[in-house]
Amino acid sequence: MVSRTLTAALLILPLQALALDYLVKLRPGLKAASLGVRTVKTLSLSHSEFALVRADDLARIEHHPAVEYIERDAEWTQGEVTKGPELSWDGAEDRFGLLWGLSNDGRNEPDRNGLPGIEEGRPGADINALSAWRLERGSNSLKVAVIDGGVDYTHPDLAGNMWTNPGEIAGNGKDDDGNGYIDDVHGWNALMNNGNPMDENGHGTHCAGTIGATHNDGGVSGVMGNVRIMAVKFLNGRGSGKTSDAIEGIDYAIKMGADIMSNSWGGGPYSRALYDTIKHASSKGILFVAAAGNQANDNDRNTYYPAGYRLPNIVAVAAHAFTDALANFSNRGNNTVHIAAPGKNILSTTVGGGHAVLSGTSMATPHVSGALGLLLAKAGRMSPALARERLMMTSIPAGIYRRHTISGGRLDALNLLRDTRPFRHSPDPTKWEKMVLETPYETDHPYGPLLRTAQTFKVPGARYVRVVVERFELERNYDFLTVKDAQGEVVDRVTGKGSTLTSEFAVGDTVVLEFSSDTLTNGWGVIVREIQFIR
Ligand code: CA
Repeated sequence: MVSRTLTAALLILPLQALALDYLVKLRPGLKAASLGVRTVKTLSLSHSEFALVRADDLARIEHHPAVEYIERDAEWTQGEVTKGPELSWDGAEDRFGLLWGLSNDGRNEPDRNGLPGIEEGRPGADINALSAWRLERGSNSLKVAVIDGGVDYTHPDLAGNMWTNPGEIAGNGKDDDGNGYIDDVHGWNALMNNGNPMDENGHGTHCAGTIGATHNDGGVSGVMGNVRIMAVKFLNGRGSGKTSDAIEGIDYAIKMGADIMSNSWGGGPYSRALYDTIKHASSKGILFVAAAGNQANDNDRNTYYPAGYRLPNIVAVAAHAFTDALANFSNRGNNTVHIAAPGKNILSTTVGGGHAVLSGTSMATPHVSGALGLLLAKAGRMSPALARERLMMTSIPAGIYRRHTISGGRLDALNLLRDTRPFRHSPDPTKWEKMVLETPYETDHPYGPLLRTAQTFKVPGARYVRVVVERFELERNYDFLTVKDAQGEVVDRVTGKGSTLTSEFAVGDTVVLEFSSDTLTNGWGVIVREIQFIR
């Protein structure tokens, strides 16, 4: 019975694979027509020509001299983790107080219904927007392209900051400005090949609101008060889209002079066509900000595209929570993810004129896009590599981000504008000394529900302290051993199973171990016998 089911599955898979289209890159100067097969679509991008062909025709063109490379027209997805209901808005109500990512008072994280939540956050763990705005609120000459499932360009909180193509007359069915796109007034719909990039599910509109919801009329506020948001749609209403449409959309934004592209999507296989298109954007000096993904993965081991391409204009963004810890769903990567930004329980605009609370690295990405927009507005356009370096070096360093991002920090817009670069501790790895605890720190085995315990360890005269967790078995992402410094800053957070884990270090002579469990499944617990320090 089992083997019969397996055989049936094996038979079906190759048939599905045959139904896919393939993306063909033509050699420089050559046209798709030279292939001699029927093409599903021809893409004349600014850096080269591509053709979309049926799998049946692959054999005929595989060794064709006009072909540079062929790849599957792969699928990409937007990825919010949780989505609350849509909140209606009468146009007057001001919801700024719930935007903890802009200004975190420790009590203003909205729950998924858009009401103040009950968890305590870390006051000040935000992008420092209020102080940054005293220096810069953006510029109407800066174009930020939201490459997504579209934007509700009629949303009252967004309409005033939408980009409008000056040479195009809406709805006359003509390509007035002769750019090759008919009725592209606020952007382009690469999915349907028309000038209406209207959002279908709210995701792109949410990202757009975080970048640039207007500051003058209640509702929410974007990181930028003044910006021109270009809507580029390639994802459908279910949140997925193809490489062929993605590269067409990106190419549109390149042609129309976007300064920054905000990309809250990913998850496809390595695509050379996508790489080449983003590389072309890089050559035009355009920043490409991309979500690190929401699988709680280490991207150093499982590369997540497009965030994981090695290009100087790509900024890969992880999500942090209101508590100043990395969000439990967020992908991370010591060598592959540049920075963390607010991404859990974020309130912003949604399709239909209302607002909604969403979580994901999708929500962290537009915080970074907006902050980079403020930088370009204040300091002028600079090379993407220089902007990225400044973004990373001005981020707020903390232990919890150190192992998980290249910069070891989270976004701070004020530091970014002022080019204030916080000191980054890097203790000499050969100088660690060991101290065995007379009484080990441990939980009961197994541990009980709803525990909240804390114990402080002090090594007088030490400049850095860390602990070695000898064994831990905790319900992953629900029960935690949290390592903090004397000021309460989270240095490390341990969950799941493992042994002999050396924590990130606390600066100073003190380390605090906090254990917390929820109501359900409990594991063996933790034991710490060794503390390490540098004097
Ligand atoms: Ca046009």
